[in-house]
Amino acid sequence: MGYDLERFVGYVNEGLLCCVCRDVLQRPLQAPCEHAYCSACISSWLVHHHSCPEDRLPLDVGSLKPLYRYMRNDLNRLQLRCMNAGQGCEVVCSLENMHTHEDECEFAFISCSNTGCPVQVERRGLEAHLSECNFRSRECPNGCGHTLLSIDQSQHNCVAELRTEVEMLRAEMLCKVEEVRREMESRLDSQRRHMVQKESQLKNDMEELKGQLSRVMCDMRALLGAERLRRQEMAEAELEKRELMELLRDLQPTRSQHPVEQQASMDQKTCGWELHTEPTRHQQRETSFQASSLSLHSAQATISGPPPSPQLGAGTRKGGTRSLTLDCIKRKSREVTVI
Ligand SMILES: [Zn+2]
Ligand SMILES: [Zn+2]
Ligand SMILES: [Zn+2]
Ligand SMILES: [Zn+2]
Ligand SMILES: [Zn+2]
Repeated sequence: MGYDLERFVGYVNEGLLCCVCRDVLQRPLQAPCEHAYCSACISSWLVHHHSCPEDRLPLDVGSLKPLYRYMRNDLNRLQLRCMNAGQGCEVVCSLENMHTHEDECEFAFISCSNTGCPVQVERRGLEAHLSECNFRSRECPNGCGHTLLSIDQSQHNCVAELRTEVEMLRAEMLCKVEEVRREMESRLDSQRRHMVQKESQLKNDMEELKGQLSRVMCDMRALLGAERLRRQEMAEAELEKRELMELLRDLQPTRSQHPVEQQASMDQKTCGWELHTEPTRHQQRETSFQASSLSLHSAQATISGPPPSPQLGAGTRKGGTRSLTLDCIKRKSREVTVI
């Protein structure tokens, strides 16, 4: 809608009037037929019509143009009264400057700046209203820290307000505590499950290690037994060796004086072979014993895997052979003595 013609001071050219509302053009637009209209007027007209409202020539929104510059200048220079003239404003100025004036016109009605206040007052009366507005707020004079609306001030009770606030905070805190507790519980649960899993895994490992340990202990006992046996055999062998050496020493002076020397010498050779082989066997036994000791050490170092089985039968067999040799020598010695 255009500006009310009544507000204008002096003559207004008819070309500056809207063809729809017949008031002075507001935000003017011009048709190709050079008729001019307020922007709002022609927009609502073209919703139901497709022609110029003045001469009925075809018209659509796309063909509307801004007003000629000289006409805009004429329009802007028109003098009119303030829209608040009814309230007492006596300002008259050009249309161009009227918006600026009306934005700060002391007679214009404006809303109270306090939140929630529905009162509309003239700009010049705002200060007076604010001083007595029911929606003005200020801090409680008793120091409880609450901001009070003047309308509520008479009913304000610091203790009750604070108690309510404390209750609310308490409820909020309880809520948070409960939330944290639930979270902690769920975390603990998951950790507990994890620990139980770990524990059973460790138990299994322990059982396995125990099994390995008992196997190793068994092997060690067997090896120790074998070692004891070998030591015993060695002691026996040493004893036999000493006996044989003594026998040999006893035989040495008689051998050359008897006619059966040949025979004795032959026997001596046989027995001598046994004697000569004796240290070799002794060495073999020692080597075998060292090998077993090495096996024992390696078994102790790596407590897993099957240890080498001790060779128990070999020593006994050798002992038997040795006893035979000893018997043979003793027999020969007796024969020699008889002769
Ligand atoms: Zn109009
Ligand atoms: Zn027209
Ligand atoms: Zn005014
Ligand atoms: Zn107010
Ligand atoms: Zn208070």
